[in-house]
Amino acid sequence: MKLSIKNKFTEENPADPVAENTRRQVENAAYSYVLPKKTANPKVLHVSLEMATELSISAKETTSEFFQDMVTGNQIYPNTKPYAMCYAGHQFGNWAGQLGDGRAINLFEVEHQDKNWKVQLKGAGETPYSRTADGLAVLRSSVREYLCSEAMFHLGVPTTRALSLSLSGDAVLRDMLYDGHPAYEKGAIVSRVAPSFLRFGSFEIFTARGDTKNLKGLVDYTIKHHFPQLGEASKENYIQFFKEVTERTLEMIIHWQRVGFVHGVMNTDNMSILGLTIDFGPYGWLEGFDFGWTPNTTDNQHKRYRYGNQPNIGLWNLYQLANALYPIIEEVAPLEAVLHQYKIDFESKSLNMMRAKLGLFTEDPADLNLIQNLEDTLQLTETDMTLFFRNLSRFTSETPGLKLIEAAFYDLENLSKEVTTRWNLWFVTYEERLQKETLSQEERIQKMNAVNPKYVLRNYMSQMAIDAADEGDYALIDELFQLLKNPYSEQPEKEKWFAKRPEWARDKVGCSRLSCSS
Ligand code: AMP
Ligand code: MG
Repeated sequence: MKLSIKNKFTEENPADPVAENTRRQVENAAYSYVLPKKTANPKVLHVSLEMATELSISAKETTSEFFQDMVTGNQIYPNTKPYAMCYAGHQFGNWAGQLGDGRAINLFEVEHQDKNWKVQLKGAGETPYSRTADGLAVLRSSVREYLCSEAMFHLGVPTTRALSLSLSGDAVLRDMLYDGHPAYEKGAIVSRVAPSFLRFGSFEIFTARGDTKNLKGLVDYTIKHHFPQLGEASKENYIQFFKEVTERTLEMIIHWQRVGFVHGVMNTDNMSILGLTIDFGPYGWLEGFDFGWTPNTTDNQHKRYRYGNQPNIGLWNLYQLANALYPIIEEVAPLEAVLHQYKIDFESKSLNMMRAKLGLFTEDPADLNLIQNLEDTLQLTETDMTLFFRNLSRFTSETPGLKLIEAAFYDLENLSKEVTTRWNLWFVTYEERLQKETLSQEERIQKMNAVNPKYVLRNYMSQMAIDAADEGDYALIDELFQLLKNPYSEQPEKEKWFAKRPEWARDKVGCSRLSCSS
């Protein structure tokens, strides 16, 4: 295996001078060199061959012992120096101070076909940022991160990617439900990949410490390599940089809303500076359409990170980033103008995204009303988001709408009169509205199917793959991986995954709600 290694991040940013792997506050540095922990019995369970190809690694090479050792931290690629990144963050609305890669270790940077990728292991052992935890990850959360990041990519949602999923062979102690019953679980390591793993918190940490020099250095580095179109460093281009991050963040969140993805932990340390979905923890997919839903049990009380609040939290996080960038901009008004624009853009982008989901490709002043009415109606009774939108494309004046979306209701037998009346009324308005469109039904179906996925990674699906993998059967991981490569295609032979969450999964741990334990 021959990789084109680059070390731009480590060469151009300040390293922690302390070489020891001890837990501590790391100042004046963007990262610390640290080696992954060797594992007892590494075993690669799955590889994303698309991602391997992007890195110039062949399918054959991914079956080698060297690859297995490399993606589990047991061998270091020649002439590379792994490192953990230093960052801080706001967690659940509060300043949390230094966090950093507590269990992520960056292996190297690869350049291939004009793209630069950072390859990182998650769950490869302690770093100076591990605080009170062990630096490890368990199989269940690793399966979830591995499958979801590749699924998001194929859905067209900006995301970090995954290269491989492996067992470490070590046992890891976790109190999964945080109820005082810790138990050993299988340890696992995901190798994940992104053009950059910098987070809002990577910038916040310098500002919090009054370290404007390193803040400026990191911003200049980020602009140079990731926003080169902005040109030379200047106050004006720092504002433009903030504007770009704002736009990318909004773009990402609109995609989340479109596919029904709920991140679950939108802390500023989990917000990528490139607007990528990052850190797949207690995330979930909407089954019943519900603005109030969050998969994260740790967020039960305030539901800060609920589906309907994601756009607001994106903005809240951007305020924290604005504060972090202030020392090199020193003007409030332009930052506020950018933040204000986010709200305006959110309204229009969100409206257009919903129009596309409904197959409306012209604009009508009454659309907002039609959409709000739909969202209210969807929430009257538990109605599956994915099934609803996918089936809606087949609506015509000859098909009674309610019949078409029957499969989406979780309790079809007990639909109240009120609910059926509301739906019938909505379909009347929808039918009238569709008449103003110019596309043929066939074209409309095609366009709607390109934005309304047929297959998403429902929590119970991951959980089934996890339960089987725990028993040593990895076939379902591959089945879901292949299914989710084409989430918008019909794939009639895989129709069983185009279904509501089964009732057995409603309250099963891992299938509906998750804690942060991972
Ligand atoms: P998360 O909520 O997973 O984004 O993690 C928040 C912070 O805790 C990050 O700094 C992580 O690196 C760190 N962290 C989470 N789990 C562990 C672990 N098992 N060992 C060490 N650090 C961890
Ligand atoms: Mg994180």
